[in-house]
Amino acid sequence: MKIMFISAAVVLMSACTSRTFEGCDFDCRVEAFRGGARSAVSFTFDDGCPNQFAKAVPLFDSHGLHLTLFLTTDWVGNWQAVRDADASGHEIACHTLSHPNLSELTPDSAATQMFGAQQLIADSVRAGACRTIAYPFCAPADSALVASRFFAARHCQGYIETSIPQSFMNISSIGCGDQSGYNSAPAIEALFAQAADTQGWCVLLFHGIDDDGGYSPIASADLERLVGFVASDPQTYWVDSFGNVAMYARERRDAQITDVRTEGNRLSFVLDDGLDDALFDMPLTLRCRIPAGTPHVEVTQTVGGQTVGVAGVRVDEADGSVVFEALPNGGRIDIKI
Ligand SMILES: [Zn+2]
Repeated sequence: MKIMFISAAVVLMSACTSRTFEGCDFDCRVEAFRGGARSAVSFTFDDGCPNQFAKAVPLFDSHGLHLTLFLTTDWVGNWQAVRDADASGHEIACHTLSHPNLSELTPDSAATQMFGAQQLIADSVRAGACRTIAYPFCAPADSALVASRFFAARHCQGYIETSIPQSFMNISSIGCGDQSGYNSAPAIEALFAQAADTQGWCVLLFHGIDDDGGYSPIASADLERLVGFVASDPQTYWVDSFGNVAMYARERRDAQITDVRTEGNRLSFVLDDGLDDALFDMPLTLRCRIPAGTPHVEVTQTVGGQTVGVAGVRVDEADGSVVFEALPNGGRIDIKI
């Protein structure tokens, strides 16, 4: 039985070298991380400490990368700086109105603290800006209450997360700075290596930078080295905001490939995630096997009756596959070789 299976596989593979999809096994999957990176890294900053705006935001801007600012809204002194960070693509997220221990509050008070901060950010920065939350003092609120208004919440269990977190309301982060074991660039780079080895998501939690008075500060020189380290290796590290990586994971968790059709040199299918497209609008990275030696690949998606090219198409010759970005629920995806 085993021998039969192996010989059948050999036949299918040899049919797959003739520049047609007929007789090929269908093999498309959503990559664990955007762009096909091996791991993800998110830099998150709590409490709105001054140097997060003065030093971290310009540092990330210079690399074209995005961080997350979890703001305690009562402590915001300069909303213009927050609006500028939002306009540069950084995530403006919630860390309650006044930083209470949410686990000790009544449901009504916890709701006021979380949803009040969310509303204030919507009014002061941009409608819909704040869609994730970090728990003050690492003390989670009731998951169902949080999930009614946020699609992801950051906790601080201190481990590298899996590519699809078990609970989106309790995503692990790792506290950094001089009050932790992760108080230098080499110590934190070891976490990056661990994320790459385990194909996981490393969420770092920072507060103060240099002498800005924030809790558990990190030296800006260390932060510069860390950002440079991950920015220089995009195949290993997808660096993006907490919300963007969480959204990708959520879409991937729910993504389904259906209605596969094969006809000569064309392969097509539908990618759906069943989520609200107004809120979940991040493209997923797909990898599809193609016949060996294919000289030309065209990938399109039919969006609202219009056929459009998709982004990020590249052929991985070593692996005999094409990698590209497609929008879930965005219409039929067509691969033409
Ligand atoms: Zn805090």
